[in-house]
Amino acid sequence: MEKLIIDQTKVGDIKKLIALCPFHALEERDGKLEINAACKMCRLCVKQGPAGAVTVQETEDRRPALDKDQWRGIAVYVDHVDGEIHPVTYELIGKARELASKIGHPVYALFAGSGLSEQCRELLHYGVDAVYVYDQNALEHFTIEAYTNVLEDFIENVKPSSILVGATTVGRQLAPRTAARVKTGLTADCTILDMSPDTDLIQIRPAFGGNIMAQIHTPDHRPQMATVRYKIMTAPTRSEEESGEIIPCLLPEKKLHSNLDVLEVLPKAPETSIEACDVLVVAGRGVKKEGDLDLLRELAALLGGQLACTRPMIEAGWMDAKRQIGLSGRTVRPKLIITCGVSGSVQFAAGMNNADHIVAINTDEKAAIFRIAHCCLVGDLYEIVPGLIAKIKANRGLYHDGI
Ligand SMILES: Cc1cc2nc3c(=O)[nH]c(=O)nc-3n(C[C@H](O)[C@H](O)[C@H](O)COP(=O)(O)OP(=O)(O)OC[C@H]3O[C@@H](n4cnc5c(N)ncnc54)[C@H](O)[C@@H]3O)c2cc1C
Ligand code: SF4
Repeated sequence: MEKLIIDQTKVGDIKKLIALCPFHALEERDGKLEINAACKMCRLCVKQGPAGAVTVQETEDRRPALDKDQWRGIAVYVDHVDGEIHPVTYELIGKARELASKIGHPVYALFAGSGLSEQCRELLHYGVDAVYVYDQNALEHFTIEAYTNVLEDFIENVKPSSILVGATTVGRQLAPRTAARVKTGLTADCTILDMSPDTDLIQIRPAFGGNIMAQIHTPDHRPQMATVRYKIMTAPTRSEEESGEIIPCLLPEKKLHSNLDVLEVLPKAPETSIEACDVLVVAGRGVKKEGDLDLLRELAALLGGQLACTRPMIEAGWMDAKRQIGLSGRTVRPKLIITCGVSGSVQFAAGMNNADHIVAINTDEKAAIFRIAHCCLVGDLYEIVPGLIAKIKANRGLYHDGI
């Protein structure tokens, strides 16, 4: 570990030194130079400031050495509403199985709620070694305090090496709170996970607006925690046989308390999200005006799919934010995706490049979307899309006539 030491007697022109820091981490307080939390240890102030004004000092690392052998197993948090398991859970179990096999660790599922006896058996069809179940009335509805206590209790008793959590509305609250509670690291929205032989989880995710893929490790802390969005990993096939065991757990009464009273849970009106669609037609900036979206809507409807879009469509106020694909939107994995007037930026592609079949329509033959498309249609969407619609309708007519 290193820290910066300031020698106030050598600072000289304080304003000049402050101006050196590109991160605004140097400031003047009561006539003295101070370093704030924005410091990135870039050392510009050390190298370019007056000699000896700011120096780097090695500090002793007082953290107790981590015995990684004490932490075993890859655990998956079971995301559910009223016992109905979110499919991201199965995807994470599949990934956990793959990671665990590299280091000879077991796979666990952690299930908290009320009246779960049937649902926890279902998990045994997906290759978990054990399902730890906290089945208590007070856990009927998700409350952040009680559920964080569940995770903490599980971590203290089971000592899993890694915990994978779905990046759902619940997971996005629960994972960071738990990580802070047990003082460990968390990588949000991982797109790739791997395991090194020393049980360090290799957590990879886009960073700096998708321009780089950051590889993040948590070598000095356990458990290692990561969230992963729905449809990033592949769910294993359900086996007919059950395997593994169910381990009932009990959270002490005082840890079940929540400052929130859930009075009623009202289901939202059902809507098909773009993540759940097998066919998507995507509108990009190549669409000239809002009314032209109807053309793409018609194509989507003919194919039994929905209309999605790139970010500029949201910024223009033409479409709902729930329909945006990409890094700051949704991740989709449809069987067929047809992009219309989409350039294929890294931020967009990160949300759809796992689609089974990608058809791209773009006037620019050098557009980046053509590098990931399986079928490249170079041309004007205003000619190609009506042509496609006409062809589909004509074919439907033939089928309807029984030919
Ligand atoms: C941190 C960050 C996060 C971001 N997150 C997202 C995200 O989640 N999702 C997202 O989409 N973007 C995101 N962006 C924005 C992203 O960088 C791009 O600006 C955006 O994806 C471009 O959208 P587009 O392809 O529709 O538009 P453009 O890049 O402008 O591309 C339009 C394309 O249409 C083609 N075209 C024009 N006319 C026609 C026509 N008549 N027929 C056929 N083709 C035509 C052009 O050749 C061009 O390739 C993010 C950016 C940042 C910095
Ligand atoms: S090390 Fe870099 S970031 Fe930190 S105070 Fe000096 S110039 Fe600023």
